[in-house]
Amino acid sequence: MSEALLIKGGCVVTMDAARRRFDPGAVLVEGSRIAAVGPSQELAAAYPGVASIEAAGALVTPGLIDAHNHPIHYLSKGLADDLELSVRSYRNIWPFEAGLTPEEAHLSSLGTFAEMIRGGTTCFVDPGSPRPHEVARAAAEIGIRGVVSREAWDLPDENAPAGLLEQTDAVLAAGEEVVERWNGAADGRLRAWLSLVRPSSVSDELCRRTKRRADELGVGIHGHLVASRTEDRDTQRVVGSGSAVPRYAELGLLGPNLCLAHLGWLEDAEIELLLEAGVKGVHCPSASMLGGFGVIAHGRFPELVEAGVPVALGSDAAAISRFLDMVRVGYLAACGHKDARIDPTVMGADCAFEMLTSGGARCVLWEDEIGSLEAGKAADLVVWDTDGLEWHPNPLANPIRNLIYSASGRSARTVLIDGNVVMRDRVIANLDLDPFLAAADAAAAAVRARLGLEVGAEGGRAAGATAG
Ligand SMILES: [Zn+2]
Repeated sequence: MSEALLIKGGCVVTMDAARRRFDPGAVLVEGSRIAAVGPSQELAAAYPGVASIEAAGALVTPGLIDAHNHPIHYLSKGLADDLELSVRSYRNIWPFEAGLTPEEAHLSSLGTFAEMIRGGTTCFVDPGSPRPHEVARAAAEIGIRGVVSREAWDLPDENAPAGLLEQTDAVLAAGEEVVERWNGAADGRLRAWLSLVRPSSVSDELCRRTKRRADELGVGIHGHLVASRTEDRDTQRVVGSGSAVPRYAELGLLGPNLCLAHLGWLEDAEIELLLEAGVKGVHCPSASMLGGFGVIAHGRFPELVEAGVPVALGSDAAAISRFLDMVRVGYLAACGHKDARIDPTVMGADCAFEMLTSGGARCVLWEDEIGSLEAGKAADLVVWDTDGLEWHPNPLANPIRNLIYSASGRSARTVLIDGNVVMRDRVIANLDLDPFLAAADAAAAAVRARLGLEVGAEGGRAAGATAG
């Protein structure tokens, strides 16, 4: 008989289909599952003597989903600042990915997952790296939920560093090995998908065969698509065919198990193609803003949401976003398009929070188990402190808007994943933070020295540099 735990007295926002809210409410956890959700007094009376977490005055929500993140990037922070997308990829990010040792990839992933948990994120989706086994191992150790995959790259590119480019057969075999080893691992907390890293790096044959195998294996396919105009130009240069969505449609790739990040440059007809096929989208506004992709100013996420394309949110990566706090990402998704469209009714906090929870779960093909607080679902939840200045006055009058518009992930106090308390009172359970930070600083310096990379070496301009 597994141990029970009652999270009681908080304002519980369930994100279930009826959008029920209990204040004061409680969530009863038994083993890895939610056993009951309801009024706090009722549950406390029904389950006397059960171990409890006091959440009076706090907000309790489903854990947040980061539907697009490269966990091995933690050690690369600072390597992508203020540089054009191709320049930073060719010169810094791709060599960093290719040059990490297995130990460094593992350490880097731990940093990503610790930062995620600190901000209330309980589930990640990795679009693929050359070190999927180390990513999965780190996730299993720290206790986070997530999807791993192996980077797939079979098209020659003069800018590709040695080690990332492989033959089509080898790419598929290695991707399948990851699925075989990690799909369903760590008591079901881990899943594994196939990857198509970006349209300019994958051949038509790889696309067709990946789709066929993903359907046979019953797994998802994750990839980037039209992040920027530069990427679309790269696709045309390397692949030699038209824009990315019609190409993927022609190859038979579009379907409900395809999850595409960025989607910055779409025509109306392309939105229609994605909708009809049931494709899932991931919006990464912080990556677009740091990288100057243009997704906020020119992207079509308001239209995608309006049309009914399922959309999740992603942080993308440590260097690419500079922060992994999904509440801050939610703020950008909620507000960025208001400014771009000169219309305060566009998107908004409720829409962003749905993308972070129930809607996000649908996009990562996991809605049967996560995304809402309901009996029978996995116990992935966050207790948020609401006693900070930023929450007052009226901290619980409209708690989701307060969270997205006024607060940040720093409000996360306690986090449960699969019934395990992975952070209690801001202390991460499965990682000793001080020694980790020292090890991460040393490893990042060693990687930079070995690969000849410098933080802040170039890019951007000083204020006033263009004046006079
Ligand atoms: Zn990415």
